[in-house]
Amino acid sequence: MDSILRKSGQLWKLTASLVLSVMGFVMMVIGIRVGIESRSKSAFVLVLVGIGISLIFGIVVPGLTIRCPGCKCRWYWRAMKSQEAGAWLLAVLSAEHCPSCDYTGRAEDDGKGP
Ligand SMILES: [Zn+2]
Repeated sequence: MDSILRKSGQLWKLTASLVLSVMGFVMMVIGIRVGIESRSKSAFVLVLVGIGISLIFGIVVPGLTIRCPGCKCRWYWRAMKSQEAGAWLLAVLSAEHCPSCDYTGRAEDDGKGP
């Protein structure tokens, strides 16, 4: 797989965002489980913080930072809006050219590592 995400050196943004988003989700689940047992306010806060982290790193951060080096098109955001649920992540990961300007990452990445 030779996607523009990897060739433009932005795969780490998606990976880091998804890892943090999953951590937020885990915090939420732990908060719900602890909250059901203890009914404490701190468990409720943990649920809210977990939801916030999950949304921020699952949608906002990658949506704003994963962009085409050529035309600044927000690939992640565009895929979320235009693709069906469940298909957009694969579309971002597998795209071989920018849907807006046909950037492929070839000329810009010559001589540079991933
Ligand atoms: Zn572009």
